[in-house]
Amino acid sequence: MPMNNLENTVIIGSGCAGWTAAIYAARADLKPLVITGAMPGGLLTTTSLVENFPGFPEGIDGNQLMENLRKQAERFGARTKFGSVVEAVAFSAKPIELTVDGAPLRARSVIIAVGAGHRRLGLESEAKLEQKGVTYCATCDGPLPVFRNKPLVVVGGGDSACEEALYLTRFGAVVYLVHRRDQLRASKIMSERALAHPKITPVWDSVVEEILDVKRDAVTAVVVRHVKTGAVTEIPCAGVFIAIGHAPNTQIFRGQLDLDENGYIQVLSPTARTKAPGVFACGDCVDHLYRQAITAAGSGCAAAIEAERYLASLG
Ligand code: NAP
Repeated sequence: MPMNNLENTVIIGSGCAGWTAAIYAARADLKPLVITGAMPGGLLTTTSLVENFPGFPEGIDGNQLMENLRKQAERFGARTKFGSVVEAVAFSAKPIELTVDGAPLRARSVIIAVGAGHRRLGLESEAKLEQKGVTYCATCDGPLPVFRNKPLVVVGGGDSACEEALYLTRFGAVVYLVHRRDQLRASKIMSERALAHPKITPVWDSVVEEILDVKRDAVTAVVVRHVKTGAVTEIPCAGVFIAIGHAPNTQIFRGQLDLDENGYIQVLSPTARTKAPGVFACGDCVDHLYRQAITAAGSGCAAAIEAERYLASLG
């Protein structure tokens, strides 16, 4: 523990960006403190095989990758507060003040790597049936008995939706891929894999208007509307897997940092510097363009180098 309970560098978040920042900050002997957030490891822990992180020719399990990064950071002296959540920040104070699980914490520098959370459709029935057949993670929930050999629905047209749909073919009788346009946003390889799968049926130009059946406290069907014809149909299903992208977890920084209209933290590109001295941001809470594990890791590295330079400038 650094002297006087004053941390050199607090890293908020424990995804690819946070752990990579921790590796670099730890190797610079800053003894960083990583506050993992409620979901240690971040969104990558909800994915199955990560095939595009350089260095793993056979791919690597998302959880394993995060575990490896954590061990690598801790080997060089990073410390971890598991499951802890930063509830408030005062970036204009010097040293910076944070509230973590209700307790105060002071830091000379902060690296924000809070990532992004699942975007929701915003339907009342979606909220009421969450964890009762509505889920945002096929890897976590797909193997549940309630979904076995039943029709399932995936909503979305990106890589996540394709990945979820492909994974769910192991369990479901059929997987309907409901997308609001007639073309997937996903990469070519993922689109081709999904559309070629005999168990995946695309439902084009369609939006989910309601998830049934709130009265029965379980998912029995989705009501979809064709956006071109207006036709409304019901697709019977036991589960709805929503994979429509992510929104940055930046609410607590509102008013303290510059955020864009979608809530992404604005940095002095190409650096990781925010408008608050000593506060750096990296990963998916900054990047709405690439959103890849490797780009998050790269920006975590940049943030740690910036923090090290900033601390050196303080003397
Ligand atoms: P994404 O690329 O932003 O795709 C979101 C999808 O959801 C889009 O098809 C979008 O439709 C649709 N959508 C958004 N809001 C909607 C709404 N309110 N109602 C209905 N549909 C809605 O998000 P993602 O698939 O999570 O991927 C994020 C990033 O991670 C991407 O860069 C992706 O390449 C990467 N990723 C990679 C892998 C992999 O390589 N294995 C796996 C997962 C994710 P529109 O197309 O009409 O906008």
